[in-house]
Amino acid sequence: MNDRAADPADVWRGRVQDHLDAAGRPPLGGMADWEVFPFERDGLTPKAMGERVVPEPDRSRDAADCRTCRSLTVPAQVLHTGDRLAVIRPGGTSLPFVANIVARQHVLIDDLDDDGHAELGRLIGRTYAAVSALDGVGNVHLTKWENGSGHLSVNVMARPLGVLELRGSNLPVWADMLPDIPQAEYDERAEAVRAALS
Ligand SMILES: [Zn+2]
Repeated sequence: MNDRAADPADVWRGRVQDHLDAAGRPPLGGMADWEVFPFERDGLTPKAMGERVVPEPDRSRDAADCRTCRSLTVPAQVLHTGDRLAVIRPGGTSLPFVANIVARQHVLIDDLDDDGHAELGRLIGRTYAAVSALDGVGNVHLTKWENGSGHLSVNVMARPLGVLELRGSNLPVWADMLPDIPQAEYDERAEAVRAALS
């Protein structure tokens, strides 16, 4: 396994190189033709791919610099507190509602034991149901990115009913381009989700 050619990620990267142009850019993929893709194909330029970086740099933040840790101390943002996990919401969102299922401590999903896995599954199901039940929600999507913070966060995002451009995996890209909803409206939905999770 010390043979560099046997490193699966190195094999993967070598194979991809043949697909790139002289500047290291891949051609646009089929996603650019999706009905729900947020951008017109004309004028889109993929970024060039650089060299692999191994070992990868540590991107985690200390708890003192962690936005999730800070949110856990703000009662208005906390929707539910469980044994190992909690459900919180960001300070603002452009979507009808966003909730994050997070660890109560500054840990990753990798750090959960089996009881933690069970609680995570239960809270994903319950939060999904609570957000789906809000008026005006067409669908609810789940992601796990941890926001580069080193803090477990499974994100639960509501799509507005009937706004078909926002369907599917590009929902957070659309959300990034749109204005935040009024805080009072967001707070009212938070109360409904909090009640459903109690
Ligand atoms: Zn944290």
